[in-house]
Amino acid sequence: MTDPEAPRIEIVTIGSELLRGDTIDTNGAWLGRALLDMGIAVARRVTVADDNDAIRDAVEAALHRTGAVLCTGGLGPTTDDLTRDVVADLFDMPLQRNEPVLDAIRRRFDDMGVVMPEINVRQAMVPAGARVLDNRNGTAPGLLLEDDRGLAILLPGVPGELYPLFNESVAPLLRERWAGRLPPIRRALLRTTGAGESRVMEEVADLIEAVRPVDIAFLPHTTGVDVRLSVRGDAGEDDVLEAAARRFQDRLHRWVYTTEELDLAECVGASLRRQRRFLVLAESCTGGLIAKRVTDIPGSSAWFATGWVTYANDAKIRDLGVGAADLERFGAVSEIVARQMASGARRRSGAACAIAVTGIAGPGGASADKPLGTVWIATDVNGDVTARSYRFSGSREQVRERAAQAALRLLQQRLDAPAGSRSWND
Ligand code: AMP
Ligand code: MG
Repeated sequence: MTDPEAPRIEIVTIGSELLRGDTIDTNGAWLGRALLDMGIAVARRVTVADDNDAIRDAVEAALHRTGAVLCTGGLGPTTDDLTRDVVADLFDMPLQRNEPVLDAIRRRFDDMGVVMPEINVRQAMVPAGARVLDNRNGTAPGLLLEDDRGLAILLPGVPGELYPLFNESVAPLLRERWAGRLPPIRRALLRTTGAGESRVMEEVADLIEAVRPVDIAFLPHTTGVDVRLSVRGDAGEDDVLEAAARRFQDRLHRWVYTTEELDLAECVGASLRRQRRFLVLAESCTGGLIAKRVTDIPGSSAWFATGWVTYANDAKIRDLGVGAADLERFGAVSEIVARQMASGARRRSGAACAIAVTGIAGPGGASADKPLGTVWIATDVNGDVTARSYRFSGSREQVRERAAQAALRLLQQRLDAPAGSRSWND
């Protein structure tokens, strides 16, 4: 993205809590990616306190350098929210009460059955000549101010309000403004799990140069690595992109769980739904984390039956039929207990598929032969039980997240494996 012709913009994130470290500036990161995705270069990003001079200086300097600035935060109703006033003053556009905006704010409160607090009138004050960007998800609308120095866009700080406002209002506006200067970008995605970033990279190291002009980005997170492929150009570049994606897929297929913007739980749900099978869960270690991910998906009751969170040995024995003697002899974190948890859960629920997890998330509970992060995962598909052991690194939270991901992946591989094939289990 060093194209000298690419339009440039600066980001100013506003809020004292961001400087104090109480809130992480995720808006800046999110906007950076969203803008880059559109072919707009972010020239600079600054964070300032809720302070008149600081906001004014940052916005003025950004306009001077690039003629375009995007601000988030400080549009709330309280006295520490200064962005609207400061930028209106900078553009010499006096604030005026905007009746349609005020009506919209009032309606939001009415819908919640609450009388609008008088302080919210502030959020209906619009700089004369500014453009209002409707905010479906909150009370503060976005604002767009422009004069011969350039363009300032003010957006709310709440991420859940910012993202849709940007996608629905700001992105189309910027595309229109910079029409002809934003290169169309074609994209492909491989979402992987089960290998770390360096392992994934090692597997495809030689391809990165070979597939140029396709650009490759590795985006690691706790539960996997996303590999993003992109190429500038119009529809003519589709073949180039597809060919590159195929070469990456060939190398990484062991770890790729989807080529779409989907969570692994959604992929598993789609397979279960297609196969008209129901899932049941027996979770130790992950403590309901898999159930949460599964039930985060709308309509999951069409393929998710029920689940147990069994921590005490007695619960594993009573609720899942795990053998007391096996628990005693092999311990709760063992292959045999994982298998019995899976088959017990499946039989007791009558569902076709079960996942069971048992492990040591830490920080305590480890031993010489069962170090921290040791996890056994078992799946039972119509009585065919498979178990596998893992050793996850990281904090308690990370071990649990990784275990949940691995469990979903193990079931996905079993569900999607061609009949009679066991090659998935490498
Ligand atoms: P504000 O629009 O300044 O009233 O911000 C409302 C809320 O949005 C704040 O309390 C923060 O929790 C959140 N917020 C503001 N700025 C950011 C940011 N840059 N990144 C993430 N969250 C933010
Ligand atoms: Mg604020």
